[in-house]
Amino acid sequence: MSLRFEALKNLNSNVFNSPDPRVAKITAIFGENVFTLKTAREFLSDEAYKSLGSSIKGGKKIDRTVASQIANGIRAWAESKGVTHFTHWFQPLTGTTAEKHDSFFTLKGDGTAIEEFDGAALIQQEPDASSFPSGGLRATFEARGYTAWDPSSPAFIMEIGNGKTLCIPTIFVSYTGESLDYKAPLLKALASLDKAAVEVCNYFDKNVQKVTPTLGWEQEYFVIDEALANARPDIVLCDRTVFGATPAKGQQLEDHYFGSIPERVYAFMRDYETESYKLGIPLRTRHNEVAPSQFECAPIYEEVNIAVDHNTLLMDVMTRVAKRHKLRVLLHEKPFAGINGSGKHNNWSLATDTGVNLLAPGKTPKTNLMFLTFFVNTIKAVSDYSDILRASIASAANDFRLGANEAPPAIISVFIGQYLTKVLNEVEGRVGEKFDEQDEAILKLDLHRSIPELLQDNTDRNRTSPFAFTGNKFEFRAVGSSANCANAMTALNTIMAETLKNFKKEVDGMIEKGEKKELAIMHVIQKSIVESKSILFEGDGYSEDWANEAEKRGLPNVKTTPLALDAMVTDKAKKLYKNNGVYTHLELEARHEIELEKYIKKVQIEARMLGEITTNYILPSAVKYQNTLLTNIRGLKELGLDEASYKNQKIIIERLSYLINTVSEDVTNMIEARKVCNGMTESREKAIAYCETVKEKFFDAIRYNLDKLELLVADDEWTLPKYRELLFLR
Ligand code: ADP
Ligand code: MG
Repeated sequence: MSLRFEALKNLNSNVFNSPDPRVAKITAIFGENVFTLKTAREFLSDEAYKSLGSSIKGGKKIDRTVASQIANGIRAWAESKGVTHFTHWFQPLTGTTAEKHDSFFTLKGDGTAIEEFDGAALIQQEPDASSFPSGGLRATFEARGYTAWDPSSPAFIMEIGNGKTLCIPTIFVSYTGESLDYKAPLLKALASLDKAAVEVCNYFDKNVQKVTPTLGWEQEYFVIDEALANARPDIVLCDRTVFGATPAKGQQLEDHYFGSIPERVYAFMRDYETESYKLGIPLRTRHNEVAPSQFECAPIYEEVNIAVDHNTLLMDVMTRVAKRHKLRVLLHEKPFAGINGSGKHNNWSLATDTGVNLLAPGKTPKTNLMFLTFFVNTIKAVSDYSDILRASIASAANDFRLGANEAPPAIISVFIGQYLTKVLNEVEGRVGEKFDEQDEAILKLDLHRSIPELLQDNTDRNRTSPFAFTGNKFEFRAVGSSANCANAMTALNTIMAETLKNFKKEVDGMIEKGEKKELAIMHVIQKSIVESKSILFEGDGYSEDWANEAEKRGLPNVKTTPLALDAMVTDKAKKLYKNNGVYTHLELEARHEIELEKYIKKVQIEARMLGEITTNYILPSAVKYQNTLLTNIRGLKELGLDEASYKNQKIIIERLSYLINTVSEDVTNMIEARKVCNGMTESREKAIAYCETVKEKFFDAIRYNLDKLELLVADDEWTLPKYRELLFLR
């Protein structure tokens, strides 16, 4: 029996693990596996506690002796919870998380066995880095890299089965100091933004000493039966289907959206939520998404660095917990054709240490001007650096989604709603006019009294925009579901830092020339509005009209990853990232190289998979069915029946022959095209060739005919699970 039929037969006998019965209240378990400051208070000396606290707040360095005290405290806590091993936990550019477990156990010189975790082991480790991508940063003879503790993200305990491991969040850098991960540059971008934003805040409030970017991600994903997933080699190796005929029912009824969650999935959700709560991930919402078997979860927003760690952790936890339920989570951006793909909206804002959300309209004229300052600077940042944002979300998987019907287009634009459009128009309309201090209309802006209008805008907001203002935050919607948010967040926070710095320079310049502060700010805001107007778009981002209009406006519309990545290494990008201490030129070049390589490998693997599925699975099924028909015709002939009696069978045989020949020819040609690509040495050229001469030329064409075959061949000859089964059976 094929795996397909076995999976179908066993579907109903799958046991559903019921969720942990202990969980009556989330607060009872929330953060129980996290070394929070509260835990630290209990396990650390005053000195160590204070040092850890100030390092979390101010990014201060911790010296070695204190580090040893902290390490001891963390070990005592971890051991009290049954932990025997620790690992430096980091986020290499492969896109997953990495760990190497070491035990606390060690032998003293005289052979005495003890448990130990010293400061040095907490602060720094040297994992074997040679197999992580480095884009040529590490010469092969010097394959070393090290991980370094990030005290701003708390240590946590990962439970896998009965094993428990202490995880220390770390950055991962080469021996010469270049970042090899997602976290290191993110921390640099956040620091740069903090500095730039505090300086601008101080125009309005001298008490602000720290600005913290916040992130609330919304994770979309698919859940399917594991045995069915295992019967599809493409899902096993590519996390997506490379073929599959549209089922009679897709998402057209939209009956899945916000419908009741299927019981088996619900048990899974409660289980991974429980695991997440223990890890301090503040999940808040869960619901069905538009496509069948598609779901979403979202946490309460957090400081960006923590939020990114929590999202990466969550993706890992979900994947592992799903196994217990014999389910498979697909985080891929486009697992199924013809229905929605998955994204990860990044809700982003800026919070001050005085408790103000800088992107929430204020209550007084002064705070309104502060809001307008940050609001307009964000628009300006996106306008000036839309190519860099586009590059930050580019991946082979996201290419299937961006610009498709349900996803934001590859054109970056900003949606702000009717009301704020009106406000900006008013401000802009007064270019050249002299404001005076009593200019109520401008300084008051009436924003606070218009909150209901803002909310109105917010509720019927435009879902087709890749970057939308949603009341008190911006929502970057083009981020892919499987992506590490750090990439998008590093880009966004860096461009914002740069824009704020330039803003301040201009305002200061005017103040020096004798302009009053508020008026100088108003003038620069006005100028920014004029300069960034073309990025604002309120209409339907999915429409053809918009693509045309955007072109007229000169907005880039780069549809494929190899080309979108160009923006990473322009002089503009190098200057931007260097100015903000985020990436050196060398690091950018290396990352560009790594992204290109990732793209090439993904397309390469999918191309191979498409070939294998065609040759080893689908064509044999088709031939078998053809033989059945031939036998049937022969039998009918033997009975002396004429051609009319097997007319239909003959048509199917001919059709099968045509499809079999066409796909095998296409597959052969695709292999040839791949060979040509593989002969190329320059990564960009190779990635473009893979995109144009392999992916674009063959993937859809082959798939088209495979799907036709699926619709033609007898169901019991078909060995690979169909969309209907993958999407609707649980
Ligand atoms: P939606 O209708 O898009 O689901 P929500 O208000 O539920 O909107 O918010 C979605 C996400 O935005 C949540 O993860 C939430 O925590 C996050 N969010 C809300 N306010 C902020 C903020 N100030 N900064 C960052 N994220 C935020
Ligand atoms: Mg949202």
